[in-house]
Amino acid sequence: MAAILRRKGKVVKIGENTDKTHPRFKRQYEDGTWASHMHAEMNVLRFAKPGDEIEVIRFTKHDHRWTMARPCYLCMQEMKKAGIAKVRYTNWQGAWEEIDVLKGC
Ligand SMILES: [Zn+2]
Repeated sequence: MAAILRRKGKVVKIGENTDKTHPRFKRQYEDGTWASHMHAEMNVLRFAKPGDEIEVIRFTKHDHRWTMARPCYLCMQEMKKAGIAKVRYTNWQGAWEEIDVLKGC
């Protein structure tokens, strides 16, 4: 999974999901698994300025096709706070979909 931060069409930062995600965003599910590794968006959000755009891409493990990468509710809230204008993500068909962050998801 990768997240790309864009400012006026230019790539500012590329984030990937690693185990080294910022501790501030660590979150544990009720079943005990840690959620932090799933949020590539969070990695680039620290570099974001209001009006920026974020693209989120997820690849399937076996053949590296694009697949569903819609940001979770938590990430959407953080992006809204950061003033992100638009989020694009790949859907199950590997095509782009778009969310207007300020209007909600
Ligand atoms: Zn998330």
